[in-house]
Amino acid sequence: MIVGVHPLAGFDKVLHYRVPEALQETVAVGSLVRVPILNTLRLGIVGELGAPKNFPLEKLKSVAQVVHPFPALPPDLLGLARWMSAYYACGLDGIIEAMLPVAVRNGGGLKQEKRLAVAGKLAPEELAALEKRAPQQAKLYRFLAQQFRPQHKGVVCRRLAVGPAAASALVKRGILREETLRVERVAYDDNVGHGELVASQPHPPNAEQAAAIAALAQALGEKRFGVSLLHGITGSGKTEVYLRTIDTALKAGGGVVFLVPEVALTPQTVARLRSRLEAIAPGHRAVVWHSHLSEGERLDGWLALATGTARVVVGARSAIFAPVQDLRLIVVDEEHEPAYKQDETPRYHGRDVAVMRAKLNGAVCLLGSATPSLESFANAQSGKYQLLELRQRVDSRKLPHIDIVDLRIEAAKQRTMPALSRKLVDALHARLERREQAILFINRRGYSSAMLCTKCGHTEECRHCSIAMTYHRADEMLRCHLCGAQQPAPLRCPKCGAPDIRWRGLGTQRVEEAVRRMVPRARIERMDSDTMSKKNRFREVLAQFRAGKIDVLVGTQMIGKGLDFPNVTLVGLVDADISMHIPDFRANERTFQLLVQVAGRAGRGDRAGEVVVQTFTPQAEAIQFSRHADYAGFAAAELKIRRDFHYPPYRHLIHHLFRGPNPEKLKFFAEQWAKLVEKELGSRVELRGPSPSPIEKIKDEYRWQLWYFTHHVTKVVPELVRLRAAFAWPDDITQVIDVDPVNLM
Ligand code: ADP
Ligand code: ZN
Repeated sequence: MIVGVHPLAGFDKVLHYRVPEALQETVAVGSLVRVPILNTLRLGIVGELGAPKNFPLEKLKSVAQVVHPFPALPPDLLGLARWMSAYYACGLDGIIEAMLPVAVRNGGGLKQEKRLAVAGKLAPEELAALEKRAPQQAKLYRFLAQQFRPQHKGVVCRRLAVGPAAASALVKRGILREETLRVERVAYDDNVGHGELVASQPHPPNAEQAAAIAALAQALGEKRFGVSLLHGITGSGKTEVYLRTIDTALKAGGGVVFLVPEVALTPQTVARLRSRLEAIAPGHRAVVWHSHLSEGERLDGWLALATGTARVVVGARSAIFAPVQDLRLIVVDEEHEPAYKQDETPRYHGRDVAVMRAKLNGAVCLLGSATPSLESFANAQSGKYQLLELRQRVDSRKLPHIDIVDLRIEAAKQRTMPALSRKLVDALHARLERREQAILFINRRGYSSAMLCTKCGHTEECRHCSIAMTYHRADEMLRCHLCGAQQPAPLRCPKCGAPDIRWRGLGTQRVEEAVRRMVPRARIERMDSDTMSKKNRFREVLAQFRAGKIDVLVGTQMIGKGLDFPNVTLVGLVDADISMHIPDFRANERTFQLLVQVAGRAGRGDRAGEVVVQTFTPQAEAIQFSRHADYAGFAAAELKIRRDFHYPPYRHLIHHLFRGPNPEKLKFFAEQWAKLVEKELGSRVELRGPSPSPIEKIKDEYRWQLWYFTHHVTKVVPELVRLRAAFAWPDDITQVIDVDPVNLM
């Protein structure tokens, strides 16, 4: 037997090996093996069976070891890896490494436990004979014969004061059997019970939910690939639809992947989901999968899925690679979330990979959101995806009222640029009177975004990155949010020496300070990555907030997701413009999504909610459509713009970044490369650039970029990769190809 192996050794190639007799039964396509390369053993995945053509077979070396007795990459994941490699311009070895947790690749770390059980009953006279001949063995047998379940070998032997030899003798005669069990370390188990556990009872679905559930049950019944987009406004009960559909899939014997954005994986949601999922499939454990697991926890979850002990996984982006068997359903909650895109190699989009994996399995993919990405929505409109809608909030609660405050007028009235408008301050006071709570969002940490000298116009930028330093008032420092460089905040302009320094743009710290000044009685807490760096702090603050010990929570978007606080009746968006004026064609979409999602946080209890949005551009479409959460209106207007400019979803976008220490050299090679691509692929791609990136320098490296617009990613990307490999790049230029990028900076 000869196999082709993809080594995980830093290069993307297939090498062939012979499989020794003893390993032939366990080696299959997808097996994780150790193979000799040069003088060491390296890991690899068996990609194919069979010998290469025209190869002197006697030269082949042999596979040294099989790491797991079952394929580590089942056929669907191997197929997915191949597709990703071609689509995302990434070596197959890199993708396979991303799919296999480190502990799985090491093949170690699992705790094993030996258990004993009775295999063949003894007749009374046989037992009596054993009693005489070997009393220890008889004692062990009698004990085990009374047990319903296999017993821990070490514990039983110790308790009965029986030596292990007695057990071995009985096993040898076939009277007892010994089995080896993995002991599973279950993530989050110790968190359940303290912290903020929210009970989750199944709700009888309302009419809209029932219709969506029925449509999905039918899709599952057809047992073929299909994508459904569940567009349900905030608070419409999408989770209930997910859970009941998961129920259907599990009952039909299928496996399930449930993806949520990483931020939504609070212990609270996890506990809630697990209790529901485990009630749905008694005896089955829901595996939790995210980036904070220990390697042991991850390995246990992986093994449980790979061996079929568990059939459902809940997790962030990378859970799409969990080895779930008989995959029937993939749910992607908040499918519009940019967090589904990985911003390092392999730069895949979890949602798009989910659709592809469903396709390879003939499974159903369910995408859900209150504000679907325009890519998914366009697919629903064209009939490629099935559109399911939930237009009502559960219990017919009203969507909150949205007030738009025009900061231009406010600035003129107050003669200065206030952090909080009169309207917002009044609304905060009203909450305090009524003992209700408020959340203020500001999507920038720190105190202000930039230091400005009003005399000479100087703005202090980071020396290593071409962006403005952010002022942190707590310790009077300027910090670069890209590279972390810091320096004391100057009292005078570093350029002209004038004392006329102003701080432009708002950050969380400045908003917090403004609330303390304007609403002194309120109990305030700030929540951003500066204050939340301590472990568990996030959970503590949320628990306090839920318990009513905090009146106003000020924070970045990190408090926005998946949290349900019934007593919050006011949500303020302090600066809606931050997300709107960035050089990204998705800026409007992001702003609209942010506004609608944030507004969905208000009035989730039985009280009506109010939302105050502060902006300098109240006329912007993203803001106007969000007032009535008019997704359809927004999508129609925005899709028209996208179509006119041939942006996604009408074409795919590929970003090519060049980085290096010498800007002239960078420009020269980027231009040479662009000429080559134009000549070779000009009929299939439209090039824009090369040009300096919006942030021209990061950590002392200059950056140039080139855009490709195309309809045919899978035709163009492999060609780009081929051309790139043949191009004479200088050593000090690195480059990154990003297909379907979500962050254009
Ligand atoms: P969404 O994700 O669509 O914003 P959720 O799934 O979080 O909404 O549901 C909002 C709230 O409504 C949750 O507390 C949920 O338990 C509850 N809920 C869901 N379906 C029903 C129903 N049919 N009747 C009553 N309450 C429901
Ligand atoms: Zn910097």
